[in-house]
Amino acid sequence: MTNHLDGNVLAGALSEVFTADVTSARARCGGCGRMGALAEAMVYTNAPGLVARCAGCDQVLATIVDTGDRLILSLAGLSAIELTRPSRLVECWLFALVRADPAQIASTQRAASGT
Ligand SMILES: [Zn+2]
Repeated sequence: MTNHLDGNVLAGALSEVFTADVTSARARCGGCGRMGALAEAMVYTNAPGLVARCAGCDQVLATIVDTGDRLILSLAGLSAIELTRPSRLVECWLFALVRADPAQIASTQRAASGT
């Protein structure tokens, strides 16, 4: 089990299930308790699907099998996944940009810069 890729290879398959980029999420291994970015996992592609193993203890964290018409995902080896919500500042920016109101955008910029 030496030929593996890093967890970033999971991004495409997981983007079909999660709206956020889960590879940047922090996850806890159910075996050893190690917390780390899912991108740090060791991913093996020489299986019927993708197999992500813990970089600390080698436990299987996740498996993804794409059958064409179905995507079978198991996260059984993880005890937690920590996703970061967009900050309120980003939400304000998005709101301001969607409204395309120059006064609102300027106000948000002042708030962001603290002036
Ligand atoms: Zn582990």
